[in-house]
Amino acid sequence: MQVVALHEGVVVARSVKWQTTCTILHDGDETFVVDSVIYPDELGALPGILAQAGWSLSGLLVTHGDWDHVLGRLSFPDASVGVAETTAARLRAEPGRAARQLRAADEDDYVQRERPLPADGHTQDGMAIWSAGHRVLCCGDYLSPVEIPWLQEQGSRDAYLATLRRLEPYVQQADWVVPGHGTPLDPQRALAIMREDVAYLEALPSEDAPLPLTRRDRRMKEIHRDNVERTR
Ligand SMILES: [Zn+2]
Repeated sequence: MQVVALHEGVVVARSVKWQTTCTILHDGDETFVVDSVIYPDELGALPGILAQAGWSLSGLLVTHGDWDHVLGRLSFPDASVGVAETTAARLRAEPGRAARQLRAADEDDYVQRERPLPADGHTQDGMAIWSAGHRVLCCGDYLSPVEIPWLQEQGSRDAYLATLRRLEPYVQQADWVVPGHGTPLDPQRALAIMREDVAYLEALPSEDAPLPLTRRDRRMKEIHRDNVERTR
């Protein structure tokens, strides 16, 4: 796990798995932890990071219900969790799904945990979190430098493009953009990724939709094939 302080009051931890990000936002006497890291040692380190800074947790926030972002309770079992209405609805509609997916991933990785996951969830839901005081945007699974736009089961290309348009004014005034996967981005880099993603999405369902130069490895090509299927 990598831990970086973006500026006073903003710390980003990045999991070894999928570069999934967890952002700690501290302002005044409030501290929120946005999304989560993944492996038990990574999750176990989070309370110490807060303690070292002298911050006490106000609550957890979750940008969307994908299982790899909702593990914060494994670090802070008693914390309250804030989610968007769409995410809450999804968690209710698919009870146990995130917990099952976590178990399957742990089996793949030979990971054992002391506690099971109490919450659960999935996609086509969510929110971006704009911290005006810090000028930091935590945008969930958008604007990733390591993953192309991924239209999951209920994902829609038009909704994805609309979300990018809604995010744009925040990106423009941000000091930092923290994507759900990958390193924190300065706004120029985030806007460049946005342009690449818009060009890619607008070209779907063509198989020749342009994959960004830095995001066209084997795994990205698999995701691209899924996207082509889903938009046909
Ligand atoms: Zn994700």
